[in-house]
Amino acid sequence: MSTSKLQVYNTLSRKKEDFIPMHPPFVGMYVCGPTVYGDAHLGHGRKEVVFDFIYRYLLYSGYKVRYVRNITDVGHLVNDADEGEDKIGKKARMEKLDPMEVAHYYELGYQRSLRALNCLSPSIEPFASGHIIEQVEMIKTIIEHGYAYVSNGSVYFDIAAYEKDHRYGVLSGRVTDDQLNNTRNLEGQSEKKGPLDFALWKKADPEHLMHWPSPWSEGFPGWHIECSAMSKKYLGETFDIHGGGMDLLFPHHECEIAQSIGSSGKEPVRYWLHNNMLTVNGQRMGKSLNNFITIDQLFTGTHKLLEKAYSPMTLRFAILQAHYRNPLDFSNQALQDAEKAFGKISGAYVLISDMEWQQDTVNPATEKDIASFEQDCKDAMNDDFNTAIVIATMFKAASVINQFNTAGKTAVSKTAFENFKKAYIAFYKDILGLIPEKQESTGGKDFKDLVDTLIHARDNAKKEKDFKLSDSIRNIIAQFGELKDTPQGTTFKYEKKK
Ligand code: ZN
Repeated sequence: MSTSKLQVYNTLSRKKEDFIPMHPPFVGMYVCGPTVYGDAHLGHGRKEVVFDFIYRYLLYSGYKVRYVRNITDVGHLVNDADEGEDKIGKKARMEKLDPMEVAHYYELGYQRSLRALNCLSPSIEPFASGHIIEQVEMIKTIIEHGYAYVSNGSVYFDIAAYEKDHRYGVLSGRVTDDQLNNTRNLEGQSEKKGPLDFALWKKADPEHLMHWPSPWSEGFPGWHIECSAMSKKYLGETFDIHGGGMDLLFPHHECEIAQSIGSSGKEPVRYWLHNNMLTVNGQRMGKSLNNFITIDQLFTGTHKLLEKAYSPMTLRFAILQAHYRNPLDFSNQALQDAEKAFGKISGAYVLISDMEWQQDTVNPATEKDIASFEQDCKDAMNDDFNTAIVIATMFKAASVINQFNTAGKTAVSKTAFENFKKAYIAFYKDILGLIPEKQESTGGKDFKDLVDTLIHARDNAKKEKDFKLSDSIRNIIAQFGELKDTPQGTTFKYEKKK
């Protein structure tokens, strides 16, 4: 049996690497969380499910993980830029609310959506507004090291000074000269020395709702500094995994690296993991394209692109069906296919959960299939968390489970059966984080035994050509579910009464 080791694709090195934590069995993982000024959309859903199964698999592999996911409630300006209104402040002004009311409202909604998707809570969820002191301290250090300057009460990161000692662009592969050529010349119009410099602290305009005192001005932190300050506080100057959507790779994560190195002199992150984007009917999701679907709209079917409502587990399953570094396209067809496929894997989960091993002749082919199930799933997860392969493997296993159920016997050795049952349940429930939605049930073991006895009695009646009796038994069983006569024998599927 192969014993593969976990390998992850590191955006920094652009290749798969063996995952070796700094201090095993401990793993530190930081994932950029939401800016809470609007409802969580499908893109958020994908990112959260991806880092949820990564978290779950690390736990399953025996690591003790500290998973930190921040909540951005300040400093994220409209258009992700250094100028303009704060995203939350703008919403607050439009709705005549305190910015913290806006942040709290959307944060609760976000958490509700993630609970429905069965995402585990991170170990810590720090708020940017609760860590102003840490951010100010880090900015002071960056200034002391000569990589930032004060301009008109704001503080900017000095890319030219940083580039004398380090390279800006290590993560995204962007070269500063190319970027400069593509940037408008802002000389004379900006507080910045160089067009690529980015804000660490911004002096607040009088109408700006959120502001704090600092050595430079009454103001607020830039968007990028919170992640550097909070990851350092909870995970140290260097930690194992930093995750987020590909859309954050540049400039956000590039700036995080520059800030951390600019303050501590150390590479902050060993493995950078980025999930790919989600498209709707082949197009990037965007408010102006009218294809911007929130998670709630998907669950209720209230977006005009949706033919119907889709359940939380259908969404989760659809996300799991693609490898996280591949693009994922959503359409009604794709969601309905996911719904069907999820039903099959779930049905098998419900069956195997209730199933007991039964003495039977061992079928060597089946025995071989199920003996490799757990290792096949582990190999797939160890290969950069390939949930798509895990699902394909579970599909094959679901057919075996259905065969066991139809035949009423297990056709494999007891040890093989017990190991298989344990692994199927673990991958379905603990690692992929799925939950059966329709109460698909066998009605319990006693009930199933009773139905089996009745089916047996009906078979005997048919053999004795007592069709009146066989029909009346049939009618009794049919009240509780679906009865089918197949060449392999009679099958029964329990249907719970509404
Ligand atoms: Zn971040």
